[in-house]
Amino acid sequence: MTPAEIKALVRTVPDFPAPGILFRDITTLIAHGPGLSATLDHLADAARDRGAEAIAGLEARGFIFGAMVAARLGLGFVPLRKPGKLPVDVIGVDYALEYGTARLELDPTLIDQGERVVVVDDLIATGGTALAGADLLRRAGATVDHALFVIDLPELGGGEALRAAGVELWALMAFE
Ligand code: 5GP
Repeated sequence: MTPAEIKALVRTVPDFPAPGILFRDITTLIAHGPGLSATLDHLADAARDRGAEAIAGLEARGFIFGAMVAARLGLGFVPLRKPGKLPVDVIGVDYALEYGTARLELDPTLIDQGERVVVVDDLIATGGTALAGADLLRRAGATVDHALFVIDLPELGGGEALRAAGVELWALMAFE
C-alpha cells in the first residue's frame, strides 16, 4: 500500500482530547491488517536505511510501531516509559506539554555506548516528546540522529525542533 492509501485509514476525531483539537487516531489503521503491515514495511525500510542498531519507542503508541519494527529488523527494542513503571534504577526527564508537564524514564543499562538508536512514535506535533526521548537516550550513551513517525503535523514545528537538536525527522505521512 502507498502512503496515501495508508493515510486514508487514519481516523480524524474532532474535539479530542479537548475542544478545537483534531485528533489523528491510528487505531483504525492498526486494526487493518494490510494497512498495519504496509506501515511497518515503510517504517522498517526507513530504520534500516538509517543504520538503526536498536529501536526506541515512546509510551504508549510508539511501543506498538517501534516494537514491531524492531522485530522485523531483528533488532532490540528499548521502551521510553511514563514515570514509575520500570522496576530498576532509571534516568528521567521532565518536559513541557501544551498544558502542564510530563516525564519519561529509561533504564540506561539497556543502551550500549555509541549504539545507533532510532526513535519511533506514532505522531509528532511540537516535537517535545521525541526530543525528551532523544535527550534521555543520549544521556545513556546512545547516538540518536533519526526519529521516525507514522504521522507528522508540520504546522506545529516538530521537525524543525528536532533538527535544531541534531535529530532528522522521517514521517510516512503529514496532515497539514
Ligand atoms: P508532541 O510532543 O510532539 O507535541 O506530541 C506528540 C505526542 O503526543 C506523541 O507521543 C503522540 O502520541 C501524542 N499526540 C499528540 N497529538 C496526537 C494526535 O492527534 N494523534 C495521536 N495519535 N497522538 C497524538
